[in-house]
Amino acid sequence: MQNHGPPLILQPIGPEDAGDSSSRSAAEQLERLRLVEQVFNLLGGTGRLTTYPTIRRTFVDLDVVIFGGGAAGLWLLDELTRCGQRAVLLEANALGTGQTVAAQGIIHGGLKYTLQGLLTNSATSIREMPAIWRECLNGKREPNLSALRRRSDECFLWRTESLSSRLGMLGAQFGLRVAPQTVSKDDRPEILRGCPGTVARLPEQVISTVSLIEVLAARNRERLLMVDPARVAFECERPGAVESIRIDGLHPELSGTALAAGFVQTFPPAASAVPLTLWPRAVVFTAGAGNSNLRRSVGLTTEAMQRRPLHMIMLRSERLPMFQGHCVDGAKTRVTITSEVDSEGRTVWQVGGQIAEDGVAWDERTLLTRAREELRAVLPNIDLSSVEWSTYRVDRAEGIIPGGKRPESVQIRREGNCLTAWPTKLALVPQLSAELCRQIGIADCKSPIDSVGVPRDWPRPTVALPPWETATRWLADRDVGPAIRSKAA
Ligand SMILES: Cc1cc2nc3c(=O)[nH]c(=O)nc-3n(C[C@H](O)[C@H](O)[C@H](O)COP(=O)(O)OP(=O)(O)OC[C@H]3O[C@@H](n4cnc5c(N)ncnc54)[C@H](O)[C@@H]3O)c2cc1C
Repeated sequence: MQNHGPPLILQPIGPEDAGDSSSRSAAEQLERLRLVEQVFNLLGGTGRLTTYPTIRRTFVDLDVVIFGGGAAGLWLLDELTRCGQRAVLLEANALGTGQTVAAQGIIHGGLKYTLQGLLTNSATSIREMPAIWRECLNGKREPNLSALRRRSDECFLWRTESLSSRLGMLGAQFGLRVAPQTVSKDDRPEILRGCPGTVARLPEQVISTVSLIEVLAARNRERLLMVDPARVAFECERPGAVESIRIDGLHPELSGTALAAGFVQTFPPAASAVPLTLWPRAVVFTAGAGNSNLRRSVGLTTEAMQRRPLHMIMLRSERLPMFQGHCVDGAKTRVTITSEVDSEGRTVWQVGGQIAEDGVAWDERTLLTRAREELRAVLPNIDLSSVEWSTYRVDRAEGIIPGGKRPESVQIRREGNCLTAWPTKLALVPQLSAELCRQIGIADCKSPIDSVGVPRDWPRPTVALPPWETATRWLADRDVGPAIRSKAA
Protein backbone atom coordinates (compact mmCIF):
# COMPACT_ATOMS: atom_id res chain seq x y z
CA MET A 1 0.00 0.00 0.00
CA GLN A 2 1.33 3.41 -0.86
CA ASN A 3 1.62 6.39 1.36
CA HIS A 4 -1.29 8.64 0.53
CA GLY A 5 0.07 11.71 2.25
CA PRO A 6 -1.93 14.00 4.48
CA PRO A 7 -5.68 13.40 4.70
CA LEU A 8 -7.80 15.25 2.18
CA ILE A 9 -10.55 17.56 3.39
CA LEU A 10 -13.50 18.31 1.14
CA GLN A 11 -15.94 21.11 1.67
CA PRO A 12 -19.59 20.10 2.01
CA ILE A 13 -21.12 19.29 -1.37
CA GLY A 14 -24.64 18.36 -0.43
CA PRO A 15 -27.50 19.64 1.67
CA GLU A 16 -27.54 16.66 4.09
CA ASP A 17 -28.45 17.32 7.64
CA ALA A 18 -25.70 17.43 10.23
CA GLY A 19 -24.64 13.97 11.33
CA ASP A 20 -27.35 12.28 9.27
CA SER A 21 -25.10 9.59 7.94
CA SER A 22 -27.15 6.71 9.30
CA SER A 23 -29.83 7.02 6.60
CA ARG A 24 -27.37 5.81 3.98
CA SER A 25 -25.72 2.41 4.13
CA ALA A 26 -21.98 2.25 4.62
CA ALA A 27 -21.54 0.62 1.21
CA GLU A 28 -23.37 3.46 -0.52
CA GLN A 29 -21.35 6.02 1.36
CA LEU A 30 -18.13 4.26 0.46
CA GLU A 31 -19.12 4.13 -3.22
CA ARG A 32 -19.89 7.82 -3.25
CA LEU A 33 -16.70 8.74 -1.46
CA ARG A 34 -14.59 6.59 -3.77
CA LEU A 35 -16.19 8.25 -6.79
CA VAL A 36 -15.38 11.69 -5.45
CA GLU A 37 -11.86 10.54 -4.66
CA GLN A 38 -11.38 9.18 -8.19
CA VAL A 39 -12.61 12.43 -9.75
CA PHE A 40 -10.35 14.40 -7.45
CA ASN A 41 -7.33 12.27 -8.36
CA LEU A 42 -8.19 12.41 -12.08
CA LEU A 43 -8.13 16.18 -11.82
CA GLY A 44 -4.56 15.94 -10.60
CA GLY A 45 -5.04 15.63 -6.86
CA THR A 46 -3.41 12.96 -4.75
CA GLY A 47 -4.61 11.69 -1.47
CA ARG A 48 -7.05 9.49 0.30
CA LEU A 49 -10.49 10.74 1.04
CA THR A 50 -10.77 10.50 4.78
CA THR A 51 -13.15 13.24 5.82
CA TYR A 52 -16.52 14.03 4.32
CA PRO A 53 -17.89 16.93 6.27
CA THR A 54 -21.30 16.90 4.58
CA ILE A 55 -22.20 13.86 6.59
CA ARG A 56 -20.02 14.98 9.47
CA ARG A 57 -18.16 11.75 9.82
CA THR A 58 -14.57 10.73 9.18
CA PHE A 59 -14.26 7.65 7.00
CA VAL A 60 -11.13 5.56 7.07
CA ASP A 61 -10.31 2.63 4.83
CA LEU A 62 -8.14 0.18 6.77
CA ASP A 63 -6.53 -3.20 6.39
CA VAL A 64 -7.00 -4.24 10.00
CA VAL A 65 -8.86 -2.94 13.06
CA ILE A 66 -7.75 -4.49 16.35
CA PHE A 67 -9.88 -4.35 19.49
CA GLY A 68 -7.97 -4.57 22.77
CA GLY A 69 -4.56 -3.20 23.71
CA GLY A 70 -3.08 -5.80 25.99
CA ALA A 71 0.17 -7.54 25.05
CA ALA A 72 -1.50 -9.46 22.20
CA GLY A 73 -3.15 -6.52 20.45
CA LEU A 74 -0.19 -4.16 20.81
CA TRP A 75 2.31 -6.71 19.50
CA LEU A 76 0.06 -7.44 16.53
CA LEU A 77 -0.40 -3.74 15.80
CA ASP A 78 3.37 -3.29 15.82
CA GLU A 79 3.89 -6.21 13.43
CA LEU A 80 1.16 -5.06 11.03
CA THR A 81 2.48 -1.51 11.03
CA ARG A 82 6.02 -2.71 10.29
CA CYS A 83 4.57 -4.65 7.36
CA GLY A 84 3.02 -1.54 5.82
CA GLN A 85 -0.56 -2.38 6.79
CA ARG A 86 -3.10 0.32 7.52
CA ALA A 87 -3.97 -0.84 11.04
CA VAL A 88 -5.39 0.82 14.15
CA LEU A 89 -6.09 -0.47 17.65
CA LEU A 90 -9.19 0.50 19.65
CA GLU A 91 -8.95 0.32 23.44
CA ALA A 92 -11.88 0.60 25.83
CA ASN A 93 -9.95 1.15 29.07
CA ALA A 94 -6.32 1.74 29.95
CA LEU A 95 -3.94 -0.41 27.89
CA GLY A 96 -3.19 -3.78 29.48
CA THR A 97 -6.25 -3.67 31.78
CA GLY A 98 -7.25 -7.22 32.65
CA GLN A 99 -4.52 -9.77 32.35
CA THR A 100 -1.35 -8.18 31.02
CA VAL A 101 -0.60 -5.73 33.84
CA ALA A 102 -1.74 -8.33 36.39
CA ALA A 103 0.55 -11.02 34.96
CA GLN A 104 3.82 -12.16 36.50
CA GLY A 105 5.82 -11.53 33.37
CA ILE A 106 7.70 -14.82 33.11
CA ILE A 107 8.74 -15.77 29.59
CA HIS A 108 8.18 -19.48 30.07
CA GLY A 109 10.26 -21.92 28.10
CA GLY A 110 8.18 -25.00 28.77
CA LEU A 111 9.81 -26.62 31.76
CA LYS A 112 6.69 -26.09 33.86
CA TYR A 113 4.82 -28.24 31.35
CA THR A 114 7.23 -31.19 31.54
CA LEU A 115 6.98 -31.68 35.28
CA GLN A 116 4.79 -34.73 34.90
CA GLY A 117 7.65 -36.33 32.95
CA LEU A 118 6.12 -35.95 29.48
CA LEU A 119 6.86 -33.63 26.60
CA THR A 120 3.41 -32.07 26.45
CA ASN A 121 2.10 -30.05 23.49
CA SER A 122 2.23 -27.01 25.76
CA ALA A 123 5.98 -27.45 26.22
CA THR A 124 6.54 -27.98 22.49
CA SER A 125 4.67 -24.83 21.47
CA ILE A 126 6.36 -22.58 23.99
CA ARG A 127 9.96 -23.76 23.88
CA GLU A 128 11.11 -21.34 21.14
CA MET A 129 9.65 -18.31 22.88
CA PRO A 130 12.45 -17.30 25.31
CA ALA A 131 14.93 -17.05 22.40
CA ILE A 132 12.58 -14.82 20.39
CA TRP A 133 11.91 -12.56 23.37
CA ARG A 134 15.62 -12.42 24.22
CA GLU A 135 16.44 -11.18 20.70
CA CYS A 136 13.70 -8.52 20.94
CA LEU A 137 14.86 -7.49 24.42
CA ASN A 138 18.42 -7.20 23.11
CA GLY A 139 17.28 -5.06 20.15
CA LYS A 140 18.29 -7.74 17.62
CA ARG A 141 14.80 -8.45 16.34
CA GLU A 142 11.61 -6.44 15.85
CA PRO A 143 9.82 -5.27 17.83
CA ASN A 144 12.87 -3.70 19.43
CA LEU A 145 12.16 -4.01 23.15
CA SER A 146 15.56 -2.88 24.39
CA ALA A 147 13.90 -0.04 26.33
CA LEU A 148 11.74 -2.53 28.25
CA ARG A 149 12.40 -2.89 31.98
CA ARG A 150 13.42 -6.46 32.76
CA ARG A 151 12.93 -7.78 36.23
CA SER A 152 15.45 -10.57 35.80
CA ASP A 153 17.16 -12.69 33.18
CA GLU A 154 16.52 -15.87 35.11
CA CYS A 155 14.24 -17.62 37.57
CA PHE A 156 15.09 -20.01 40.35
CA LEU A 157 13.47 -23.38 40.52
CA TRP A 158 13.53 -25.30 43.76
CA ARG A 159 12.04 -28.24 45.55
CA THR A 160 11.24 -28.51 49.19
CA GLU A 161 12.16 -32.19 49.65
CA SER A 162 15.72 -33.35 49.98
CA LEU A 163 15.15 -36.18 47.49
CA SER A 164 17.55 -36.31 44.58
CA SER A 165 16.01 -34.06 41.98
CA ARG A 166 15.01 -34.70 38.40
CA LEU A 167 14.97 -31.03 37.61
CA GLY A 168 18.32 -31.00 35.87
CA MET A 169 17.36 -33.91 33.64
CA LEU A 170 14.03 -32.64 32.43
CA GLY A 171 15.20 -29.85 30.18
CA ALA A 172 17.82 -31.97 28.44
CA GLN A 173 15.49 -34.92 28.08
CA PHE A 174 12.83 -32.88 26.29
CA GLY A 175 15.07 -30.67 24.21
CA LEU A 176 13.96 -27.51 25.94
CA ARG A 177 16.02 -24.43 25.15
CA VAL A 178 15.94 -23.34 28.78
CA ALA A 179 17.16 -26.37 30.70
CA PRO A 180 17.77 -25.72 34.42
CA GLN A 181 21.29 -25.64 35.87
CA THR A 182 21.71 -26.91 39.42
CA VAL A 183 23.03 -24.29 41.83
CA SER A 184 25.52 -25.30 44.53
CA LYS A 185 24.65 -24.56 48.15
CA ASP A 186 27.14 -21.66 48.28
CA ASP A 187 25.75 -19.98 45.18
CA ARG A 188 22.16 -19.88 46.31
CA PRO A 189 20.50 -16.55 47.05
CA GLU A 190 20.07 -15.93 50.79
CA ILE A 191 16.33 -16.57 50.64
CA LEU A 192 16.91 -20.13 49.34
CA ARG A 193 19.70 -21.05 51.77
CA GLY A 194 17.39 -22.88 54.18
CA CYS A 195 15.76 -25.04 51.50
CA PRO A 196 16.65 -28.73 51.88
CA GLY A 197 15.96 -29.71 48.27
CA THR A 198 17.59 -29.05 44.90
CA VAL A 199 17.88 -25.48 43.66
CA ALA A 200 18.36 -24.70 39.97
CA ARG A 201 18.67 -21.62 37.78
CA LEU A 202 16.36 -21.42 34.80
CA PRO A 203 17.17 -18.94 32.01
CA GLU A 204 13.56 -17.74 31.73
CA GLN A 205 13.40 -13.96 31.66
CA VAL A 206 10.99 -12.02 33.79
CA ILE A 207 9.78 -8.72 32.37
CA SER A 208 7.80 -5.79 33.69
CA THR A 209 4.52 -6.19 31.84
CA VAL A 210 3.65 -2.51 32.41
CA SER A 211 6.91 -1.58 30.73
CA LEU A 212 6.11 -3.92 27.81
CA ILE A 213 2.82 -2.10 27.27
CA GLU A 214 4.52 1.30 27.56
CA VAL A 215 7.21 0.43 25.00
CA LEU A 216 4.80 -1.05 22.45
CA ALA A 217 2.33 1.82 22.92
CA ALA A 218 5.05 4.45 22.45
CA ARG A 219 6.05 2.85 19.13
CA ASN A 220 2.48 3.04 17.79
CA ARG A 221 0.82 5.97 19.56
CA GLU A 222 -0.66 7.43 16.34
CA ARG A 223 -2.57 4.23 15.75
CA LEU A 224 -4.10 3.84 19.22
CA LEU A 225 -7.61 5.15 19.76
CA MET A 226 -9.58 5.31 22.96
CA VAL A 227 -13.20 4.19 22.45
CA ASP A 228 -16.32 3.88 24.52
CA PRO A 229 -17.72 0.38 23.73
CA ALA A 230 -21.27 1.71 24.19
CA ARG A 231 -20.64 4.02 21.20
CA VAL A 232 -19.13 1.44 18.89
CA ALA A 233 -21.49 -0.23 16.39
CA PHE A 234 -20.72 -2.87 13.79
CA GLU A 235 -22.40 -3.18 10.43
CA CYS A 236 -22.21 -6.83 9.38
CA GLU A 237 -23.28 -8.57 6.21
CA ARG A 238 -23.69 -11.80 8.19
CA PRO A 239 -22.33 -12.98 11.58
CA GLY A 240 -18.62 -12.21 11.71
CA ALA A 241 -18.52 -10.45 8.33
CA VAL A 242 -17.88 -6.84 9.34
CA GLU A 243 -18.40 -4.17 6.68
CA SER A 244 -17.94 -1.10 8.80
CA ILE A 245 -17.41 0.02 12.38
CA ARG A 246 -19.07 3.24 13.52
CA ILE A 247 -17.55 5.04 16.46
CA ASP A 248 -20.08 7.65 17.43
CA GLY A 249 -17.90 10.05 19.31
CA LEU A 250 -16.51 9.50 22.75
CA HIS A 251 -17.76 9.69 26.25
CA PRO A 252 -18.04 13.43 27.04
CA GLU A 253 -15.35 13.10 29.74
CA LEU A 254 -12.95 11.77 27.15
CA SER A 255 -13.75 14.07 24.29
CA GLY A 256 -13.96 17.37 26.24
CA THR A 257 -14.01 20.51 24.19
CA ALA A 258 -13.61 18.68 20.92
CA LEU A 259 -17.14 17.29 21.13
CA ALA A 260 -18.61 20.46 22.53
CA ALA A 261 -17.26 22.25 19.48
CA GLY A 262 -19.79 20.39 17.31
CA PHE A 263 -19.22 20.20 13.56
CA VAL A 264 -15.67 21.15 12.75
CA GLN A 265 -14.28 21.43 9.24
CA THR A 266 -10.66 21.84 10.07
CA PHE A 267 -8.30 18.92 10.48
CA PRO A 268 -6.45 19.06 12.80
CA PRO A 269 -6.98 20.25 15.52
CA ALA A 270 -10.55 19.32 16.42
CA ALA A 271 -11.48 16.48 14.10
CA SER A 272 -12.25 14.17 17.02
CA ALA A 273 -15.56 16.01 17.15
CA VAL A 274 -16.42 14.09 14.00
CA PRO A 275 -17.52 10.51 14.55
CA LEU A 276 -15.58 7.84 12.73
CA THR A 277 -16.56 5.10 10.34
CA LEU A 278 -13.86 2.52 9.76
CA TRP A 279 -13.92 0.17 6.78
CA PRO A 280 -11.64 -2.69 7.66
CA ARG A 281 -10.55 -5.60 5.52
CA ALA A 282 -10.09 -7.67 8.69
CA VAL A 283 -11.09 -7.25 12.33
CA VAL A 284 -9.13 -8.83 15.17
CA PHE A 285 -10.44 -9.20 18.71
CA THR A 286 -7.59 -9.38 21.23
CA ALA A 287 -9.62 -7.99 24.10
CA GLY A 288 -9.01 -10.85 26.56
CA ALA A 289 -12.18 -11.34 28.61
CA GLY A 290 -13.76 -8.55 26.49
CA ASN A 291 -13.72 -10.82 23.43
CA SER A 292 -17.00 -12.40 24.47
CA ASN A 293 -18.99 -9.13 24.25
CA LEU A 294 -17.25 -8.14 21.04
CA ARG A 295 -18.18 -11.46 19.48
CA ARG A 296 -21.79 -10.93 20.52
CA SER A 297 -21.73 -7.48 18.86
CA VAL A 298 -20.90 -9.05 15.50
CA GLY A 299 -23.41 -11.88 15.88
CA LEU A 300 -20.95 -14.62 16.89
CA THR A 301 -21.36 -17.13 19.69
CA THR A 302 -19.99 -16.21 23.09
CA GLU A 303 -19.48 -19.91 23.83
CA ALA A 304 -15.98 -19.61 22.42
CA MET A 305 -14.27 -18.35 25.56
CA GLN A 306 -13.46 -19.73 28.99
CA ARG A 307 -12.28 -17.95 32.11
CA ARG A 308 -9.95 -19.58 34.60
CA PRO A 309 -9.92 -17.47 37.75
CA LEU A 310 -6.97 -16.80 40.05
CA HIS A 311 -6.77 -15.23 43.50
CA MET A 312 -3.26 -13.80 43.60
CA ILE A 313 -1.30 -12.77 46.67
CA MET A 314 0.87 -9.66 47.05
CA LEU A 315 3.46 -8.87 49.73
CA ARG A 316 5.30 -5.59 50.06
CA SER A 317 8.16 -4.45 52.26
CA GLU A 318 11.40 -2.52 51.93
CA ARG A 319 13.11 -5.55 53.44
CA LEU A 320 11.93 -8.18 50.96
CA PRO A 321 14.63 -9.20 48.48
CA MET A 322 14.03 -9.06 44.71
CA PHE A 323 13.40 -12.69 43.84
CA GLN A 324 11.88 -14.63 40.95
CA GLY A 325 11.24 -18.34 41.14
CA HIS A 326 9.00 -21.41 41.19
CA CYS A 327 8.81 -23.98 43.94
CA VAL A 328 7.84 -27.27 42.36
CA ASP A 329 6.95 -30.45 44.13
CA GLY A 330 6.10 -33.38 41.91
CA ALA A 331 4.17 -32.06 38.91
CA LYS A 332 2.77 -29.11 40.87
CA THR A 333 4.02 -25.55 41.10
CA ARG A 334 3.36 -24.79 44.77
CA VAL A 335 4.18 -21.09 44.41
CA THR A 336 5.52 -18.84 41.67
CA ILE A 337 7.07 -15.65 43.02
CA THR A 338 7.95 -12.57 40.96
CA SER A 339 9.16 -9.23 42.27
CA GLU A 340 8.98 -5.59 41.30
CA VAL A 341 9.68 -2.26 42.99
CA ASP A 342 6.60 -0.12 43.63
CA SER A 343 6.26 3.65 43.28
CA GLU A 344 7.32 4.09 46.95
CA GLY A 345 10.50 2.09 46.50
CA ARG A 346 9.24 -1.02 48.31
CA THR A 347 9.77 -4.51 46.92
CA VAL A 348 6.48 -6.14 45.94
CA TRP A 349 6.10 -9.88 45.53
CA GLN A 350 3.35 -11.34 43.39
CA VAL A 351 2.63 -14.91 44.40
CA GLY A 352 0.84 -17.25 42.03
CA GLY A 353 0.95 -21.01 41.40
CA GLN A 354 -1.24 -23.65 43.06
CA ILE A 355 -1.97 -21.42 46.06
CA ALA A 356 -3.61 -18.81 43.75
CA GLU A 357 -5.65 -21.54 42.02
CA ASP A 358 -6.83 -22.95 45.36
CA GLY A 359 -7.38 -19.43 46.69
CA VAL A 360 -10.24 -18.80 44.26
CA ALA A 361 -12.55 -20.59 46.70
CA TRP A 362 -11.27 -18.64 49.73
CA ASP A 363 -11.87 -15.15 51.00
CA GLU A 364 -8.97 -12.73 51.32
CA ARG A 365 -8.20 -13.54 54.99
CA THR A 366 -8.26 -17.28 54.51
CA LEU A 367 -6.06 -17.03 51.44
CA LEU A 368 -3.54 -14.79 53.18
CA THR A 369 -3.38 -17.12 56.19
CA ARG A 370 -2.74 -20.14 53.96
CA ALA A 371 -0.32 -18.22 51.77
CA ARG A 372 1.68 -17.16 54.81
CA GLU A 373 1.95 -20.80 55.90
CA GLU A 374 2.87 -21.88 52.39
CA LEU A 375 5.62 -19.28 52.04
CA ARG A 376 7.11 -20.25 55.40
CA ALA A 377 7.03 -23.90 54.32
CA VAL A 378 8.75 -23.37 50.96
CA LEU A 379 11.13 -20.60 52.09
CA PRO A 380 12.14 -21.47 55.67
CA ASN A 381 14.51 -18.44 55.82
CA ILE A 382 11.89 -15.82 55.00
CA ASP A 383 11.42 -12.90 57.39
CA LEU A 384 7.81 -11.72 57.12
CA SER A 385 7.77 -9.38 60.13
CA SER A 386 7.79 -6.15 58.09
CA VAL A 387 5.53 -7.40 55.31
CA GLU A 388 2.12 -6.03 54.33
CA TRP A 389 -0.28 -8.34 52.50
CA SER A 390 -2.98 -7.93 49.91
CA THR A 391 -4.73 -10.02 47.24
CA TYR A 392 -6.36 -9.50 43.85
CA ARG A 393 -8.68 -11.58 41.75
CA VAL A 394 -8.24 -11.85 38.01
CA ASP A 395 -9.50 -14.25 35.34
CA ARG A 396 -7.37 -15.81 32.67
CA ALA A 397 -9.40 -15.50 29.44
CA GLU A 398 -8.78 -18.20 26.86
CA GLY A 399 -10.30 -20.03 23.93
CA ILE A 400 -12.66 -22.69 25.20
CA ILE A 401 -11.28 -26.19 25.88
CA PRO A 402 -13.47 -29.18 26.83
CA GLY A 403 -13.47 -29.60 30.60
CA GLY A 404 -12.20 -26.04 31.10
CA LYS A 405 -8.58 -27.24 30.89
CA ARG A 406 -5.68 -24.93 30.04
CA PRO A 407 -5.27 -24.62 26.25
CA GLU A 408 -1.96 -26.05 25.04
CA SER A 409 -1.15 -23.13 22.78
CA VAL A 410 -2.51 -19.94 21.23
CA GLN A 411 -6.21 -19.90 20.36
CA ILE A 412 -7.60 -18.27 17.18
CA ARG A 413 -11.11 -18.47 15.72
CA ARG A 414 -11.77 -17.19 12.25
CA GLU A 415 -15.32 -16.33 11.19
CA GLY A 416 -16.07 -14.07 8.22
CA ASN A 417 -13.40 -11.37 8.29
CA CYS A 418 -13.23 -11.52 12.10
CA LEU A 419 -10.45 -13.22 14.02
CA THR A 420 -10.84 -13.78 17.75
CA ALA A 421 -7.56 -14.48 19.51
CA TRP A 422 -6.23 -15.37 22.93
CA PRO A 423 -2.48 -15.93 23.44
CA THR A 424 -3.03 -18.27 26.44
CA LYS A 425 0.35 -17.10 27.79
CA LEU A 426 2.18 -13.80 27.54
CA ALA A 427 5.21 -15.76 26.37
CA LEU A 428 3.21 -16.96 23.34
CA VAL A 429 2.27 -13.48 22.12
CA PRO A 430 4.91 -13.43 19.30
CA GLN A 431 3.57 -16.76 18.04
CA LEU A 432 -0.02 -15.51 18.17
CA SER A 433 0.90 -12.37 16.26
CA ALA A 434 2.74 -14.30 13.53
CA GLU A 435 -0.18 -16.69 13.14
CA LEU A 436 -2.70 -13.83 12.95
CA CYS A 437 -0.63 -12.11 10.24
CA ARG A 438 -0.61 -15.37 8.31
CA GLN A 439 -4.37 -15.79 8.62
CA ILE A 440 -5.00 -12.15 7.65
CA GLY A 441 -3.04 -12.95 4.51
CA ILE A 442 0.08 -10.85 4.88
CA ALA A 443 2.61 -12.62 2.75
CA ASP A 444 5.16 -9.89 2.06
CA CYS A 445 5.99 -6.87 4.11
CA LYS A 446 5.67 -3.46 2.42
CA SER A 447 7.26 -0.24 3.59
CA PRO A 448 5.50 1.22 6.62
CA ILE A 449 3.10 4.07 5.86
CA ASP A 450 3.27 7.40 7.67
CA SER A 451 -0.35 7.93 8.54
CA VAL A 452 -3.51 5.86 8.52
CA GLY A 453 -5.71 8.95 8.33
CA VAL A 454 -7.42 8.84 11.72
CA PRO A 455 -7.85 12.17 13.50
CA ARG A 456 -4.60 13.07 15.17
CA ASP A 457 -6.26 14.63 18.19
CA TRP A 458 -8.51 11.69 18.99
CA PRO A 459 -7.96 10.75 22.68
CA ARG A 460 -5.29 8.09 23.20
CA PRO A 461 -5.49 5.42 25.88
CA THR A 462 -3.11 5.53 28.83
CA VAL A 463 -1.34 2.51 30.35
CA ALA A 464 -3.03 0.64 33.22
CA LEU A 465 -1.48 0.59 36.69
CA PRO A 466 -0.34 -2.76 38.11
CA PRO A 467 -2.41 -4.32 40.92
CA TRP A 468 -0.04 -3.29 43.72
CA GLU A 469 -0.54 0.37 42.79
CA THR A 470 -4.33 0.11 42.79
CA ALA A 471 -4.89 -2.18 45.82
CA THR A 472 -6.35 -0.08 48.63
CA ARG A 473 -6.34 -2.69 51.41
CA TRP A 474 -3.08 -3.98 52.81
CA LEU A 475 -2.89 -6.01 56.04
CA ALA A 476 0.09 -5.91 58.40
CA ASP A 477 1.71 -9.28 58.98
CA ARG A 478 0.45 -9.38 62.58
CA ASP A 479 -3.11 -9.20 61.23
CA VAL A 480 -2.52 -12.18 58.98
CA GLY A 481 -0.55 -14.05 61.61
CA PRO A 482 -1.36 -16.25 64.62
CA ALA A 483 -4.75 -14.77 65.61
CA ILE A 484 -6.20 -15.36 62.20
CA ARG A 485 -4.38 -18.62 61.81
CA SER A 486 -5.90 -20.04 65.01
CA LYS A 487 -9.33 -18.86 63.78
CA ALA A 488 -8.81 -20.65 60.48
CA ALA A 489 -7.66 -23.79 62.28
C1 LIG B 1 -2.28 -13.39 37.34
C2 LIG B 1 -1.76 -13.79 35.98
C3 LIG B 1 -0.42 -14.09 35.85
C4 LIG B 1 0.10 -14.45 34.58
N1 LIG B 1 1.42 -14.69 34.47
C5 LIG B 1 1.93 -15.02 33.26
C6 LIG B 1 3.33 -15.24 33.13
O1 LIG B 1 4.11 -15.08 34.08
N2 LIG B 1 3.80 -15.61 31.90
C7 LIG B 1 2.97 -15.78 30.84
O2 LIG B 1 3.47 -16.14 29.76
N3 LIG B 1 1.63 -15.56 30.93
C8 LIG B 1 1.11 -15.17 32.11
N4 LIG B 1 -0.23 -14.92 32.23
C9 LIG B 1 -1.09 -14.97 31.02
C10 LIG B 1 -0.98 -13.63 30.25
O3 LIG B 1 -1.05 -12.57 31.15
C11 LIG B 1 -2.10 -13.49 29.24
O4 LIG B 1 -2.11 -14.61 28.39
C12 LIG B 1 -1.90 -12.23 28.38
O5 LIG B 1 -1.54 -11.13 29.14
C13 LIG B 1 -3.20 -11.94 27.65
O6 LIG B 1 -3.02 -10.75 26.92
P1 LIG B 1 -4.19 -10.18 26.01
O7 LIG B 1 -3.61 -9.00 25.32
O8 LIG B 1 -4.80 -11.26 25.21
O9 LIG B 1 -5.35 -9.73 27.02
P2 LIG B 1 -5.45 -8.60 28.15
O10 LIG B 1 -4.14 -8.34 28.78
O11 LIG B 1 -6.56 -9.03 29.06
O12 LIG B 1 -5.85 -7.29 27.35
C14 LIG B 1 -7.13 -7.08 26.82
C15 LIG B 1 -7.30 -5.61 26.48
O13 LIG B 1 -8.53 -5.44 25.79
C16 LIG B 1 -9.21 -4.31 26.32
N5 LIG B 1 -10.65 -4.45 26.04
C17 LIG B 1 -11.56 -5.22 26.68
N6 LIG B 1 -12.77 -5.09 26.09
C18 LIG B 1 -12.62 -4.23 25.05
C19 LIG B 1 -13.50 -3.71 24.05
N7 LIG B 1 -14.80 -4.04 23.99
N8 LIG B 1 -13.00 -2.84 23.14
C20 LIG B 1 -11.69 -2.49 23.15
N9 LIG B 1 -10.81 -2.95 24.09
C21 LIG B 1 -11.27 -3.82 25.01
C22 LIG B 1 -8.83 -4.33 27.79
O14 LIG B 1 -9.05 -3.06 28.41
C23 LIG B 1 -7.36 -4.71 27.71
O15 LIG B 1 -6.55 -3.58 27.51
C24 LIG B 1 -0.77 -14.54 33.46
C25 LIG B 1 -2.13 -14.25 33.61
C26 LIG B 1 -2.63 -13.84 34.85
C27 LIG B 1 -4.08 -13.49 34.96
